[in-house]
Amino acid sequence: TQSGLTAELASLHAELVRRNPGEAEFHQAALEVLETLAPVLTARPEFADAKVLERLVEPERQIMFRVPWQDDSGKIRVNRGFRVEFNSALGPYKGGLRFHASVNLGIVKFLGFEQIFKNALTGLNIGGGKGGSDFDPHGRSDAEVMRFCQSFMTELHRHLGEHTDVPAGDIGVGGREIGYLFGQYRRITNRWEAGVLTGKGLAWGGSKARTEATGYGNVLFTEEMLKQRGEELDGQQVVVSGSGNVAIYTIEKAQALGANVLTVSDSGGYVVDEKGIDLALLKQIKEVERGRVGDYAQRRGSSAKYVAGGSVWDVACDVALPSATQNELDADAARILVRNGVKAVSEGANMPTTPEAVALLKEAGVAFGPGKAANAGGVATSALEMRQNSAREAWSFERAEGELAAIMRGIHDTCHQTAERFGRPGDYVAGANIAGFERVADAMLDQGLI
Ligand code: GLU
Repeated sequence: TQSGLTAELASLHAELVRRNPGEAEFHQAALEVLETLAPVLTARPEFADAKVLERLVEPERQIMFRVPWQDDSGKIRVNRGFRVEFNSALGPYKGGLRFHASVNLGIVKFLGFEQIFKNALTGLNIGGGKGGSDFDPHGRSDAEVMRFCQSFMTELHRHLGEHTDVPAGDIGVGGREIGYLFGQYRRITNRWEAGVLTGKGLAWGGSKARTEATGYGNVLFTEEMLKQRGEELDGQQVVVSGSGNVAIYTIEKAQALGANVLTVSDSGGYVVDEKGIDLALLKQIKEVERGRVGDYAQRRGSSAKYVAGGSVWDVACDVALPSATQNELDADAARILVRNGVKAVSEGANMPTTPEAVALLKEAGVAFGPGKAANAGGVATSALEMRQNSAREAWSFERAEGELAAIMRGIHDTCHQTAERFGRPGDYVAGANIAGFERVADAMLDQGLI
């Protein structure tokens, strides 16, 4: 693909690959950022002089630990836990925990690296981090999930604190897991430290609109991108991938704004529902029963068709919102989307679009919202949860959602204006990377060589 890498940036990336062998997703995430930074490095030579990038690509601290636990049959299991504390120039490390069989150090580092820029873009004071485990909660009983979470936190607690490192959810970690993790943290430390985790239950320090925030935020970001082109979501055909927290609340907000959402998916296949997704049924199956999208198709009746193993991007649409996981939308999928006349693609998941697919979409003039901007509503609302915890307040849904909407508009405008300022009009990838980088880099310069 065409790349904006200067010789210096190319050698910086080669060194990163050499020092972090086997971490393909981290190499990818770093390359996608480095490719867009040449204009800001030319404009601000002090960043190169202070070796800001060399410092930024090295996590401040990486923690890996053993997580032993016992399953319901009494068998002993051993998983691996991770927390990468990537950058704290702007605030305490902030970012989710992912529990999924695919989790390894390279995945956690790619997510932590993205999180630095995403968190900077919110304009709030949060640094970047990420963690998780290769534990797979699917098919595990509540008791097993609880024992796992307790063991995980028994090690992790010593690295956390409301002013130090504040995890939240990600894939495989929702309200149930945050509850078990918080309980164990409180028991070990004997502190009611509400701001040490976000995504908490509403009765004990959680923020209204946090559950909805990532999906709602991506839809608001998409609406802003469409407005730039004189369009709106109302009446558009929308394809959503995934069926977890991000997908569900993406569908809810897209429908509220008048769009017709045609699809959901999981690792087994996808559903296309010509009448539009029945959100109440989807929530019942996913949030209450912890079931699969195949169950949705079975219970929905004749309007819904289940396609086992297929690609959701085969379904013709105006707007595509990848909301499942990394690298789920590749070059072939991008070609099909373009051929079907897609107008906008916006990332609810982290790095769901491969670099080749991003290049194809941009070349075709499709509005493309990168995850570190488009899905920042989740972590932004986490920061609002921390603010409520510090003030011992609990805002109304309207207040929390109103602040989220203002933040998403601000992120959109920052990306849009930054892209124009650096000669990349309409390029939200460049705008997001440069604006996020500049804020972190300035803070690092101010704080000296650390
Ligand atoms: N895991 C989410 C993300 O990718 C949210 C992180 C948080 O709220 O700290 O941004």
